[in-house]
Amino acid sequence: MGFATKAIHAGQEPDSTTGAITTPIYQTSTYAQDGLGHHKGFEYARTQNPTRMALEKNLAALEGGYAAHCFASGMSAIDTTLKLLQAGDHVIVSENTYGGTYRLFERVLKNFGLDFSYVDTTEAANVEAALTGDTRMVFIETPTNPIMAVADLEGIGKLTRERGIRLVVDNTFMSPFFLRPIEWGADIVVHSTTKYLNGHSDSIGGVVVTTNAEDTERVGFLQNAVGAIISPFDAWLVMRGTKTLAVRMKQHDDNGRRVAAFLDEHPKVKKVYYPGLPQHPQHERAKRLMTGFGGMIAFETGSLAAARSVLDNVRLCALAESLGGVETLISHPATMTHASVPSEQRARLGITDGLVRISVGIEDVEDIIADLDAALQQV
Ligand SMILES: *Cc1c(COP(=O)(O)O)cnc(C)c1O
Repeated sequence: MGFATKAIHAGQEPDSTTGAITTPIYQTSTYAQDGLGHHKGFEYARTQNPTRMALEKNLAALEGGYAAHCFASGMSAIDTTLKLLQAGDHVIVSENTYGGTYRLFERVLKNFGLDFSYVDTTEAANVEAALTGDTRMVFIETPTNPIMAVADLEGIGKLTRERGIRLVVDNTFMSPFFLRPIEWGADIVVHSTTKYLNGHSDSIGGVVVTTNAEDTERVGFLQNAVGAIISPFDAWLVMRGTKTLAVRMKQHDDNGRRVAAFLDEHPKVKKVYYPGLPQHPQHERAKRLMTGFGGMIAFETGSLAAARSVLDNVRLCALAESLGGVETLISHPATMTHASVPSEQRARLGITDGLVRISVGIEDVEDIIADLDAALQQV
């Protein structure tokens, strides 16, 4: 079955009582049981909810995983994944990861005895050099946010396999339409479903996709024990979203390439970060690992004043955090998504005050380009 077919049909059998083609929103907290010890497999809605379970089957199929569990946010999905570990365990993390992930690791999970090392995951050798006797997980985000560095998934996948270390990949930026990390050795894939999977900027959610029975059992246990579940309505929204994932991603990619090429030629733009550009340092790797480059672009304007001028003068592009929706969003990583990353570290990662990030939407690309062009003229 092809990707678009799976996106529309996996986990989405017509409702058994009415034939409803769209999975209903089972807005209930509990289920009447037939008799003591006899029920239909549903006892309490933190533990089982048919709407959520339909979405979980859908997302497991799209990533090529064994099973999936959905959460109230991308952060709760990541938090639950880290709870597979024990105090004393060491985790190697991509160095310019999503700001919220960095905050969770450094300001919350560290207090519970986990230890984190941040390395440039574009080279597997850096991961190897950071290994300690206690390393139990490698957590990769690729391409990284916001400077779009593409990790050596293949090399790191081999290394973690050989050593029996869990490889977790945050695949939010590419979506399974362009990248399926499990095919390159990932044991677990996480997403903020808030972004491309839902795709319409109207829901917050997360997913953990597992590849074996043991992790699936444990993540399911944690989902129920901790209780950070996605609501039935949000699960339903994400399913509505994934049905069009294939067509949306093709358009994000098409528009992304056109906007990146435009920015690359623009005299007011100093540098463009987009894996689809031939001068991107991991362009060849991106072509091998991914079937498209998506709609995430960052570009350097040279100064805070220049960035401000662009951000204040766009009209169609909305100044907002988040990404992956149908509408084009523009943001300033240094003061918005990455404000919680210490400034020295931001500088080292290239997250300068002049850096602007765009999540290219699926509007007519001519309109997006005209809007950016008009704003850049003001610089
Ligand atoms: C948004 C995002 C998250 C966090 O997800 P929420 O749904 O906002 O909690 C994690 N990783 C990446 C790459 C993201 O873009």
